[in-house]
Amino acid sequence: MSTVQVMFSGDEVRRRIERIAQEMREDYSDKNPLLIAVLKGSFVFLADLVRAINMPLEVDFVRLSSYGSGTESSGRIKVVHRLGTTVKGRHVIVVEDIVDSGLTLSFFMDELRRRRPASLRLCALLDKPSRRIVPVSIDYLCFTVPEKFVVGYGIDCDEKFRYLPEVCYLED
Ligand code: 5GP
Ligand code: MG
Repeated sequence: MSTVQVMFSGDEVRRRIERIAQEMREDYSDKNPLLIAVLKGSFVFLADLVRAINMPLEVDFVRLSSYGSGTESSGRIKVVHRLGTTVKGRHVIVVEDIVDSGLTLSFFMDELRRRRPASLRLCALLDKPSRRIVPVSIDYLCFTVPEKFVVGYGIDCDEKFRYLPEVCYLED
């Protein structure tokens, strides 16, 4: 049986989000940015982030799925739920829960770049650089984490643990 351990408390997460929200307010004032959240794992992060930014912006959602099984990304990504918003000419910020191998995000950022946004940046709650296969540059990052399986704060393991208010990890 694995146990759930706290990695970052709700307060630590809130403080980091406040910091990046401040940077975004400075970078995007009067730009009405479009925040695109990658479902499902980033829904709690997005909800806290937009309220911390506290400035006019729009949100949309995509759901991406990696072909193949298990916890490893295969690199072959499918868009399961499409965007309802036109990206051309918009200042876009992609909001992701975890950048791991980088395969999912590099696919999606390339796809967005082809639609010619005015600007395109990436915001991530967690970065696991030790597992990177494809380079991905993260413009706004809350935390760099070691190679552990993270759950909580919207992030699941087989749909469980999303409700936890802290960023946690599973330990054997
Ligand atoms: P990658 O960067 O490998 O293409 O995929 C990143 C995605 O894999 C993340 O957005 C997340 O959905 C999933 N992932 C990576 N590491 C973890 C983890 O520690 N816990 C959970 N629940 N999902 C993870
Ligand atoms: Mg994700």
